[in-house]
Order: sequence, then C-alpha cells, then structure tokens
Amino acid sequence: MTIRINLCFSSNYSSLKTLSIDGHFTFDDVHHAAKDFGNRFQLLPFAVLHPRSVSDIATTIKHIWQMGPHSQLTVAARGHGHSLQGQAQAHRGVVINMGSLQGPKMHVHSGNYSYVDVSGGELWINILHESLKYGLAPKSWTDYLHLTVGGTLSNAGISGQAFRYGPQISNVYQLEVVTGKGEVVNCSENQNGDLFHSVLGGLGQFGIITRARISLEPAPDMVKWIKVLYSDFTTFTRDQELLIYAESTFDYIEGFVIINRTGLLNNWRSSFNPQDPVQASQFESDGRTLFCLELAKYFNTDKTDTINEEVMKLLSQLRYIPSTLFLSEVSYIEFLDRVHVSEIKLWSKGVWEVPHPWLNLLVPKSKIHNFAEEVFGSILTDTSNGPILIYPVKKSKWDNRTSAVIPEEDIFYLVAFLSSAVPSSTGTDGLEHILNQNRRILEFCGTARLGFKQYLPHYTTQEEWQAHFGPQWEVFVQRKSAYDPLAILAPGQRIFQKAI
Ligand code: FAD
Repeated sequence: MTIRINLCFSSNYSSLKTLSIDGHFTFDDVHHAAKDFGNRFQLLPFAVLHPRSVSDIATTIKHIWQMGPHSQLTVAARGHGHSLQGQAQAHRGVVINMGSLQGPKMHVHSGNYSYVDVSGGELWINILHESLKYGLAPKSWTDYLHLTVGGTLSNAGISGQAFRYGPQISNVYQLEVVTGKGEVVNCSENQNGDLFHSVLGGLGQFGIITRARISLEPAPDMVKWIKVLYSDFTTFTRDQELLIYAESTFDYIEGFVIINRTGLLNNWRSSFNPQDPVQASQFESDGRTLFCLELAKYFNTDKTDTINEEVMKLLSQLRYIPSTLFLSEVSYIEFLDRVHVSEIKLWSKGVWEVPHPWLNLLVPKSKIHNFAEEVFGSILTDTSNGPILIYPVKKSKWDNRTSAVIPEEDIFYLVAFLSSAVPSSTGTDGLEHILNQNRRILEFCGTARLGFKQYLPHYTTQEEWQAHFGPQWEVFVQRKSAYDPLAILAPGQRIFQKAI
C-alpha cells in the first residue's frame, strides 16, 4: 500500500512539474489550503496551483482528465476558503488558489445595461470599490464581502436585497468556465445555456468559474439603517412579508432572533440612536426571545430633506414595539462592509479562527411558525452561540434552471445559525453542544416534514444528496456526466467520488 502511494506521489509530482504554465505549483507549503472558516475539516492536498492565467487552470485540469480514472488526483477551486466543512479542499488532490489568477482586469461597462467583468477569484469588496468609481454597484449581495465571486456563485449569494433582485446567481449575465475536461467555455443564458445554469448554484461540480459578468445598478451615497424589536413572532414575520411585497419599501430587509440577552439596547446605542431615548432606556430585553427587524433605505445626499419623511412613512405600517426604534445613517460602503468591522474586532480578540458549526436552512413560509415554536421555544431557549438570522425571500426571483435547491413555496425564509464554538469547551459554548443542537434542529425539521432545504448544504452520503436534490437529482447527475464525467472537481462537497 505504502509503495503504491509513493509511486502515485512521484508520478503525480513529476507530471505536474513538467506542465508548461505561467503560474506555479507548490508541493510543500500546502497547509493553508487544508483550512477553512469552519475550522473543523483539514484535508491536505497534494499540490496547490497558483495560476496566473485561465490557460494554467485548463492545462492542469486537461492533464488530470487525460490521466484517466486511475489517477487519484482531484481538483478544488479555493476562493477565499470561507467554506464551513471542507468544501474547497481536495484530499491528496490539487487546490487552485483562485486569488492568484491575474485577469481579466476588472472592467466596468456603464450605460443602460451596466455590468462589470471580473475574475472568478475576485473578492466582492474589491468589485464594490471598483464599480463605485463609476457610480455603480452590484444589485445583490452577501452580508460579508470578503468572499469570492466563484465561491458565492457556486452556492447562491443571499442577503437582504434578495427579496427584490433574487440571489447573486440571478444577477449574472455571462461566465467563462473551465470544465472537468479542461475545456474553456463561455456561457450565458443564450450561449451554452445548460452549462451556465449548471454552474450557478452548482457547488463547484461542473466547472471552475474563471470570469463572470455581473449586473450593476446606480449606487446610492448613503443608507438609513434601522433596527426595531418585536416580542411576537407572528407580528414580526407578518411585517417582514408585508415589506417584501410592498411596492414602496426598503432596499434591504433582514431580521434576527435574540435569545435571552441583557442590555441589548445599550449595545445598539454605540452605533444607533434611539428615536425615543427615554422610552428606550426603560426597555428590558432580559430573559426573553425577541425578534429584530433590520432594514435599510438607500438615498443620495441631495435627497436628505425627504428621506426621513419617507422612512417614517414606511415604518408607520409596522407593528414593532415603539420604544425600540433605533436609527443610524452610514455611507453605502460602511453599510455593505458592516460584517468586516465585526471581523476585525473578533480577530483582535483571537476569536475569529475558532470552529464555526454553522447551520443554514431554507424554510417554507407555511412552516415557519412550527419551526419557530420548536426551535426558539424549546431547543434554543437559554442562549445562542452567535447571530441567528431569519428573513423571507421570494421564489419568483430565483431561476429554476440553475442548480440551486430551494423549497417549493412562493416565499421561504433563510434561517442561519451562525454559531462560534469555544475550542475545547465542554459547556453550552462548546463544539459538541452546538453540533448536538444543530442535529436536534435538523431532526425536528425532518420528522415534522417541513419541506426545508439546507443552504450551503453538507451531507456525507449520496443518498442524502439525492434526497436534498429531490426531483432535480437526475438533472444534476446528467450535468455531472456531461461536464465532469470523471468527478475531478470539488471533491470536498462529497457528492460524487472519483472512480479510482
Ligand atoms: P470557498 O470556500 O473558497 O469555496 C466554496 C465552494 O465553491 C467550494 O466547493 C469551491 O471548490 C467552490 N469554488 C470556489 N471558487 C470557485 C470558482 N471560481 N469556480 C467554481 N467553484 C468555485 N453566503 C450567503 O449567501 N450570504 C451571506 O450573507 C453569507 N455570509 C457569510 C459570512 C461569512 C463570515 C462567511 C464565512 C460565509 C458567508 N456566506 C454567506 C457563505 C459563503 O457565501 C460561502 O461559504 C462561499 O462559498 C464562500 O466563498 P469563498 O470564496 O470563500 O468560497
């Protein structure tokens, strides 16, 4: 066995070494590619490719494809490595460090049909900065912008703008993709449409996104950022749903659950102002479960006189606890890059690089009350180990030709348990405790037949994957055999195994 591994190693090493590429491979310093944000899975690759050009990626994959099913090499694109369970890792395979891909240089096209062409390894924060130079910005975001285009388009890319524009995968015009056979293919809705739709939400299974054309809109200067509280879940979700359907509404609609927190509003005061400071100071959050509606309204500095009136009018239809209205005014960049501020704080306290046993679910509207009753009324009553986001999106804004898997109903909720674990703790903040809670939540969703789907899904058997995809499974398998028949790509998703 050892002899076979050594032989494979030396033949893989010498064959990759001889490839004629613009970038380079590393074979020793590969530990970074075995880490991700989840901090729970570490699979060492055989090599890391630092491509300079698309042809480096195509040459490498074509070479591995031509080695046939007997080579054990697989390939994973690594965007920013913010996966949670090793999805961008390749055990004894080749990890492609997408950040080193040079080009295409970011190019903004402004006009009636504005877009930006970017590399698949580009970070969304850089796209924001570049497009703002032209007064433009992408329409649909994630809450955190230090993620790559290839990484979020392989999932969906959801945030508080998705109710209006759909996820990021609904806001892409064109892609350049390197398939599992090493072919470089341009695709869009009208050109190689099947590959285009396969790759969007395709968990990296069908090709490596090397370039994307992202739709842009005029960017605002400023944002009114608002938080209000509810103690009643039905009123909270009623208001969220009202807002996502209203003709005149906010530009960003999210929400989160607050479990048993003291001094909550005091924390808000550092960056938000209470509308009524006296009432707000008398409000006590202790020992209860509360629901926070988080809203944003964009505006330009030449409209400052009317924006307050507009916001108050929109708020007047809502039934939040009046003393809990908190407002803030920040620049558009500050608003979009808000999670990075928390990231910097967590890094400085040494608690960013801890295990992150996150659980992200898409729950149909008709079942969200059953879900909340059990999960917030019984499973999570004492504490949460990080933010719990909850907000509705509309199915009509998703393209059912993509590979993304969503529930059947017209409205479904993203519910994200963004937990951090304290390493080596055996208490309620430890990894085992949180994983156990996640299991209980999943078990409940299964037995209660909520018709939910996992977002950023993680399964370990093909049967579970098949159940996740449901009626889409057959198409997913057909697409795999068309674009990556040897199952070379994204092995860390554990959907298909390369036949060796
Ligand atoms: P990686 O972890 O590097 O890769 C993810 C998967 O995509 C892997 O399978 C990888 O092989 C594949 N891949 C990467 N690049 C390419 C490419 N160019 N072509 C093909 N496949 C590729 N998601 C949301 O939707 N909304 C949010 O608000 C949100 N907030 C987040 C906040 C934080 C702090 C974190 C850590 C994650 C968040 N996510 C959110 C999840 C995030 O979108 C995914 O984890 C995403 O995959 C991370 O992007 P990445 O560039 O780090 O990808």
